[in-house]
Amino acid sequence: MAAYDTMDLTFTDAEEAFRTECRAWLEANVPSGPLPSGDTREGFALHVEWEKRLFESRWSVVSWPEEYGGRGASLWEWLVFEEEYYRAGAPQRVTQNGIFLLAPTIFEFGTQEQKDHYLPRMAAAEDLWCQGWSEPNAGSDLAGITSRAVRDDAAGGWRLTGQKTWTTRGAFCTHLFGLFRTDPEAERHKGMTYFLVPLDTDGVTVRGVGRLDGDEGFAEVFLEDAFVPDANTLGGVNLGWNVAMATTSSERGLTLRSPGRFMAATSRLVDLYHRQGASADPSARDEVVQAWMDAEAYQLYTLRDVTDLVEGRAPGARSSLNKLWWSEMDVRIHEAALDLLGPLAELTDDAPSAVDGGSWMKGYQFALSGPIYAGTNEIQRNIVAERVLGLPRK
Ligand SMILES: Cc1cc2nc3c(=O)[nH]c(=O)nc-3n(C[C@H](O)[C@H](O)[C@H](O)COP(=O)(O)OP(=O)(O)OC[C@H]3O[C@@H](n4cnc5c(N)ncnc54)[C@H](O)[C@@H]3O)c2cc1C
Repeated sequence: MAAYDTMDLTFTDAEEAFRTECRAWLEANVPSGPLPSGDTREGFALHVEWEKRLFESRWSVVSWPEEYGGRGASLWEWLVFEEEYYRAGAPQRVTQNGIFLLAPTIFEFGTQEQKDHYLPRMAAAEDLWCQGWSEPNAGSDLAGITSRAVRDDAAGGWRLTGQKTWTTRGAFCTHLFGLFRTDPEAERHKGMTYFLVPLDTDGVTVRGVGRLDGDEGFAEVFLEDAFVPDANTLGGVNLGWNVAMATTSSERGLTLRSPGRFMAATSRLVDLYHRQGASADPSARDEVVQAWMDAEAYQLYTLRDVTDLVEGRAPGARSSLNKLWWSEMDVRIHEAALDLLGPLAELTDDAPSAVDGGSWMKGYQFALSGPIYAGTNEIQRNIVAERVLGLPRK
């Protein structure tokens, strides 16, 4: 693809061949019906089985180098894979916090030993990672964390104490990446270190927490003098803030929510519109068309972002715009579906007349959390105002 002022939107023959290959594999392998929610214990286990099948055929981390289980695919090919993945209705990636958030950070900051140890196990869904940043009194203000790590010179490592909360799928994961205060005297954005913590470490207790929809999608993680060796720090002692900001950039930017997810959702929405016989209602049509255009716009915006990345320009604070767009679009897509369904929207998966297994309501409930996780949208608007538009802080 050329620079975006003269952007060529056609994929190359090689990229189209890649599309054909992944489409064929997905068509032959995606489970015929939806798996139970990956935010339940039983559903999570089935999702992990699926992730292992992806890995065995080298589709779990297509853009990673081959030595870590990938295909060395370009970012364009990665986008193609994501489009095909969602188009095929393949299961939600329960490994996403590892492969989309932690892995880019390990590629950037990890030692060779850390890359060799963690990345292949993550690609193979052997190690399952959750994110341990939020604490009971530190969410938006991440620098307000109080969980601490105290040096144990004799043992050659650190003793972790504190509490993490809202840890997505923490009750089912094997490892946690998180920030801990290593220098209590330092200024608040300094003196933190990024740790990689096996959840079976002595002194770690994980307690699952039910979500609004009943799934055990969250956990609280309690640490009491839990020992981890020096080798489990990522990016340097007391340098955790910078390392965490790299993870944040992946979370808000390109990798966590690729356009394929929303293009597939709006194509299902158009299908629902036809099935519900809603063509006589102009307001329903407008909502559906708007949702579809929003997803297309997000794809075009992403193509520009990828062009920037390929040409060596980092998105920086602009990734906050991304996050604002996809999170608010996701709510609108689901609201349009609920409007089409009317009273039927209330029917859940076990009701005989539920449309699409009640998935639109479930999707809506999850979409409502989009403006909160990955940094709330109020915070993203502050970032856009100050760091993209250059407006004064007050
Ligand atoms: C589905 C979901 C999954 C999550 N997964 C994880 C996870 O895996 N790991 C993890 O660590 N955390 C996770 N979180 C937690 C998430 O990161 C926090 O909820 C989020 O950062 C907000 O923090 P808080 O809940 O403490 O709210 P607060 O920070 O207390 O904010 C409360 C309200 O005040 C607003 N506000 C706060 N400060 C400002 C400001 N300076 N300017 C304007 N408005 C402001 C916020 O926007 C918000 O509306 C998850 C949350 C959700 C909903």
